[in-house]
Amino acid sequence: MARMGRLAAFAVFTLIAAPLQCGFAGEAGPPVAVGARLSQDENAAKLVFDLSRQVDATASALASPDRIVVDMPEVNFQVDPSVGRIGARPNLSLVRGFRFGLLAPGKSRIVIDLARAACPAQVAARPIVEGEPAARLTIELKPCDPSAFAALVRSSAVSTASESSAAAPAQPVIVLDPGHGGVDSGARGLGGVQEKTLVFGFCAELKRELDATKRYAIVMTRDGDQYVDLDERVAIARKANASLFISVHADTLSEDASVSGSTVYTVADRASDAEAARIAARENAADRSPGGVGRLDNLDVADILFDLKRRETRTYAHIFSRGLVDNLRVATKLNHNPERSAGFVVLKAPEFPSVLVELGYLSNAQDVQSLTSPEWRAKAAAAMVKEIDAFFARYGKPDSVPSTESGVVSSAGQAAGPSAH
Ligand code: ZN
Repeated sequence: MARMGRLAAFAVFTLIAAPLQCGFAGEAGPPVAVGARLSQDENAAKLVFDLSRQVDATASALASPDRIVVDMPEVNFQVDPSVGRIGARPNLSLVRGFRFGLLAPGKSRIVIDLARAACPAQVAARPIVEGEPAARLTIELKPCDPSAFAALVRSSAVSTASESSAAAPAQPVIVLDPGHGGVDSGARGLGGVQEKTLVFGFCAELKRELDATKRYAIVMTRDGDQYVDLDERVAIARKANASLFISVHADTLSEDASVSGSTVYTVADRASDAEAARIAARENAADRSPGGVGRLDNLDVADILFDLKRRETRTYAHIFSRGLVDNLRVATKLNHNPERSAGFVVLKAPEFPSVLVELGYLSNAQDVQSLTSPEWRAKAAAAMVKEIDAFFARYGKPDSVPSTESGVVSSAGQAAGPSAH
């Protein structure tokens, strides 16, 4: 076969990015990775990172899709992510691609996407030149039996669980964010109802129902009628190690009292429609600090890998939003366009899926009647609990919710250049 020659050939991918200016200089800050190379054939794969100094790295395995994950203290990757885009080469290779980046403050991760079952044969960092700090991290994989890989996945899950149980609560943390509060009363509706009061009452009911399941830890971003700015709400959720963030609001539309029903919003750089853009602008306006919608990105999404992780989180927010709409449909009246997206500041955390629920329109008499009724509140909250249960049943506990489980990047194929930022 003509392919035999290629089969035997050792495919080598090399990239050394900016080796001088970001350099091996200085011990301050995390070690810098300046180059990554993958060489592989059907019998082995060797992935090498050149580092400004040694790191301790440990390998574990994750299934479906099958990956080898290498965790280490924070590393500043000055390497073009495109080096890891190998593409599928069935029968020719063990590795489909690899990704790397910041997993959490102080922690970095390399994710190796496997083309078939492979187990680590070596994970070691050694000085490039004896006596010098610069080191080479070598990750060597060998083909292994699918059952051996499955065993590795199981043992990895055990060690990951024991590690995280010390640091994080065992139950998924759901952060409920009643909009507005204090001097910011939000929308004002028919009969003088105030958004801040209604949404707080709703969140309190939702918390009560979620607590009753004993399956979740619930954190509220405000526990009474106080002003909390949007960044702080996100910061509260991050600190709580949130698995899911639900912001609750109610809208008003003075021009058209007939508009009504619940809407679920997810975050997007571009609004799904003019109405979504209007609502995001209004909700964001509660936050008086300058900088607007892009702030979080600038502060925290410095790395393209964070951007990719954020895309993955957004995918899960969409899945949750879809399910939430389906469940709310049974319990209450939905807006004519119940699933929308726009640039909500409060939904921008890249670590966990976030949605914003506009319960209804305070400019619509029927909605006001619903939203102020304890029966409606209990029913709508129960519908949300149903979807929350379904979501976590499908995607598991926080450790296996993809925002934290699969590491830095959803897919090497998506590792487009930093054009988004
Ligand atoms: Zn609001």
